Amino acid sequence: MAVMAEVSTTTGAALRSPASPAPVKEGDAEKLWFIEEMTSDVDAVQERVLAEILARNADTEYLTNCGLAGATDRATFRAKVPMATYEDLQPYIRRIADGDRSPILSGHPVSEFLTSSGTSAGERKLMPTIEDELNRRQLLYSLQMPVMNLYVPGMDKGKALHFLFVKSETRTPGGLAARPVLTSYYKSNHFKNRPFDAYNNYTSPTAAILCADAFQSMYAQMVCGLVQRHDVLRVGAVFASGLLRAIRFLQLNWEQLAADIETGALTPRVADPSVREAVAGLLRPDPELAAVIRAECSSGDWAGIITRIWPNTKYLDVIVTGAMAQYIPTLKYYSGGLPMACTMYASSECYFGLNLRPMCDPSEVSYTLMPNMCYFEFLPMDAAASGGDARQLVDLARVELGREYELVITTYAGLNRYRVGDVLQVTGFHNSAPQFRFVRRKNVLLSIESDKTDEAELQRAVERASALLRPHGAAVVEYTSQAYTKSIPGHYVIYWELLAKTPADGEAVDRETLDQCCLQMEEALNSVYRQSRVADGSIGPLEIRVVRSGTFEELMDYAISRGASINQYKVPRCVTFPPIIELLDSRVVSSHFSPALPHWTPGQRNDD
Ligand code: AMP
Repeated sequence: MAVMAEVSTTTGAALRSPASPAPVKEGDAEKLWFIEEMTSDVDAVQERVLAEILARNADTEYLTNCGLAGATDRATFRAKVPMATYEDLQPYIRRIADGDRSPILSGHPVSEFLTSSGTSAGERKLMPTIEDELNRRQLLYSLQMPVMNLYVPGMDKGKALHFLFVKSETRTPGGLAARPVLTSYYKSNHFKNRPFDAYNNYTSPTAAILCADAFQSMYAQMVCGLVQRHDVLRVGAVFASGLLRAIRFLQLNWEQLAADIETGALTPRVADPSVREAVAGLLRPDPELAAVIRAECSSGDWAGIITRIWPNTKYLDVIVTGAMAQYIPTLKYYSGGLPMACTMYASSECYFGLNLRPMCDPSEVSYTLMPNMCYFEFLPMDAAASGGDARQLVDLARVELGREYELVITTYAGLNRYRVGDVLQVTGFHNSAPQFRFVRRKNVLLSIESDKTDEAELQRAVERASALLRPHGAAVVEYTSQAYTKSIPGHYVIYWELLAKTPADGEAVDRETLDQCCLQMEEALNSVYRQSRVADGSIGPLEIRVVRSGTFEELMDYAISRGASINQYKVPRCVTFPPIIELLDSRVVSSHFSPALPHWTPGQRNDD
């Protein structure tokens, strides 16, 4: 089969290896051909996808209420179906969660809920999904390595050390599972009973991935990664923060790991029998390897640790776009500058697309939305800023180069013209398929890993905590924040300027009260934040830094000296610009950390 025919469009280029003219292997050729086919006339594919979605969901309560009357064409869809937010759909979603099995949003039975890291009223959003969505996700996954093979040959000659985890799951009152999309995928037969694939041969045994205990799972995956160190060709996790947690884990546990490897006996701290059995199949007494690990980890020099321990690693397989870009320098440090491949753009609502140039620099990553995944529409950012009008939505085939849009999707599972909340910019085309840079998530102020805290949430948290100051005659006059990621795990830092009755501000309030203020703020933050603190340990204790009186005025002076207008100046509620952070830090009079973990339980709160 001729691998890639030139596709005659003016906008893009066919996929082919930049490195070698070597023939692409048969299975890969089919997948690459599929990408070419899907991207050569995106408008036609999108029209078909919309008709398919509307036909199978024609009898749903939602589309019936919209007055679609079985129509499957674009014009009727545009005229009748409004744009929707999660809050608009929540009454329908709640009924499904409570056990109503009638076709409310989807003509196919809702098989489970995927719990998004996006929140509504402080709780994870519940995204309905259907059985055949797994096939679409699987299909997108299957395109990744054929694309990668165009750039990095020989990935079938070794293994992938991928830190993959499941998280806790609950059931809705109506009995449907509610869990994160990756937990759902790893627990599915698609993953558990996958046929051997030399390109996706993980060092982690499936039992270790499926172990719900975060410590045992990580320990087992790390020990298996260490004993197969020479086989490892790529090291990764879904997001950059996850890979950094794994490195932190190694920093904290290398002595025990080396001891286990020396004797060939797994620590009793890994108690899960299926994990122990899986690790036993790989772990042999290996004093030489234990000595290597001790030598590399005890020196205190962690620069380039990834390639020192896994010397054959060709790249990091990890998302470093969006909120994860803050981790690029740290990952460069630990990996000695290995390339970072961001392969996929996906969400609980739907998987969206692929990076067709996975070895490019992180600053140049663009994702090609695959038009078979769902029906895509785009709200120009100027329209989004003024609330959003469905009449301004633009089709995938009609987005303009350079413009920014908010992503709006219509899915097989029954989300109609749903605002995802992501802002994307068109950077180019592959054939007729536009490619997008992930610009940002709307309204997110602070994020360490999957948590997303917006300005209103931060404001509420400050208000709740500052109530503790009132008995001391003090109040918060100004505040701002930063996501502090220089240590692992990262944590939120909130700068407070206090107004106190006594002139020595900060001293009017005792340390213990300010420590408690940190905890109160954490209690007020959303459940994804609290889960990361409590169950995953992936966010460290929140810190309040009290700055001396007048600091925020200096901040304003600084902004004005750099051209901000005095009339329009507003205190930024999050700061990232290093000189501003330096200014704030140089005025700190005391710093305080949350003394305990906030409350978190796996289920949704009943009081919301
Ligand atoms: P969730 O619903 O918790 O699965 O989170 C999905 C969200 O994560 C997306 O809507 C994006 O905001 C973000 N996300 C997913 N993939 C990427 C990516 N490759 N780059 C940047 N952000 C991403």
